[in-house]
Amino acid sequence: MLKIATYPQPILRQTAKEITEFNQELRDLAVEMSKIMYEDNGIGLAAPQVSISQKLVVLGDEDNKSFTAYVNPEITFFSREKVVNEEGCLSFPKIFGLVKRSKKIHLKYQDLDGKLHKVKIKDFTAVVLQHEIDHLNGVLFIDRAEKITEGQDLLEALKAKI
Ligand SMILES: [Zn+2]
Repeated sequence: MLKIATYPQPILRQTAKEITEFNQELRDLAVEMSKIMYEDNGIGLAAPQVSISQKLVVLGDEDNKSFTAYVNPEITFFSREKVVNEEGCLSFPKIFGLVKRSKKIHLKYQDLDGKLHKVKIKDFTAVVLQHEIDHLNGVLFIDRAEKITEGQDLLEALKAKI
């Protein structure tokens, strides 16, 4: 059973590995990740957050049941136009902060069958994907936050553990 890795577990700072095998194991992992994401009321989850250092991200769909998997996702364009949102993260329970990100991105990724997709994404989904893809590079929202809006004390206590 997968379990959420919380800060400051070192796995969250590692660069995830490219996925080359598109098999049943990968599909099962994506399904398990989507379950744990929904159980914890998340909107997206990256594999390093369940202690698996691979380039896989799942995002919840609007029906709050199904999900979309992004394998080896790579952002090829970031718009200069930015938006600021309050972000949280399943790896940082009870901590929130304001993060500025691009409003639009171009994304290259593979699906669970290994098929390559190139898409343009904007607004909320673009912001969530930027957050999740950061996880694949060991970058966390606290690195980008302009301001911690909730849980500053908690965060300081966690940082002191490193
Ligand atoms: Zn996160």
